[in-house]
Amino acid sequence: MLRIKNLGVYHGYVQAIRELSLEVKEGELLAVLGANGAGKSTLLGTVAGLYKPTAGEIIFKGKPITGQKPEQVVRQGISLVPEKREIFSALSVLDNLMLGAFHRYRKNKPVLMNDIQEILELFPALKGRESDQAGSLSGGLQQMLAIGRGLMSRPALLMLDEPSIGLAPLVVREIMSILVKLKKTGVTIILVEQNTKSALKVADSVLVMERGGITHSGNSVDIIADSSIQEAYLGRA
Ligand code: ATP
Repeated sequence: MLRIKNLGVYHGYVQAIRELSLEVKEGELLAVLGANGAGKSTLLGTVAGLYKPTAGEIIFKGKPITGQKPEQVVRQGISLVPEKREIFSALSVLDNLMLGAFHRYRKNKPVLMNDIQEILELFPALKGRESDQAGSLSGGLQQMLAIGRGLMSRPALLMLDEPSIGLAPLVVREIMSILVKLKKTGVTIILVEQNTKSALKVADSVLVMERGGITHSGNSVDIIADSSIQEAYLGRA
């Protein structure tokens, strides 16, 4: 579904991604792990059209999307839930959801309301909170809202940048189980996480990044069994 070949991305003089290639299969949940500054956010941002690569190719569903603008990428069926959640705190939950894919609904209010209902089914904790100000929600609910907003464009590929950050373990578990449910509906997922243990529980396959490249890749069972990865990223617990 997504194929990246020899990607290179700079932030000014800093090379954040170097000669990176990967493939994400339709319907899988790929976890991208690695330390701070490894290039994980840059990878997602580049697929989403926020950063222009200096080298390489990004192919989505057989079509090149390299260098496309963010709004074009969204229209192709790719949605990014960024690390900072970026919900509009002063607006209501409902308004935040509506803004998730404004272009899709200009002429079709029933479809909009139907999509919102579907998303609320996935996040029952948001039900009944539709008119609350987004900023008044707990961190966990804000993260659910951010994911819900990302789903409003009906993506085939959903990319999440550290959705567990700052959340209590119970809430992290809830979010991870929602991702598993979403996967079952056919959405392909790329999950960037520093919370390695939680990510490995739900991932089908795993990439480990270091200094802009991939150091390990494989299915989650093999990655969990790899002692060098255990030591470097998982602790010995
Ligand atoms: P984190 O978990 O801290 O977000 P990451 O693995 O997502 O880490 P990136 O944020 O992609 O890593 O950063 C990769 C490299 O690019 C780092 O060296 C970082 O300092 C640098 N970098 C990231 N964004 C910018 C930017 N906007 N301008 C300059 N350098 C940047």
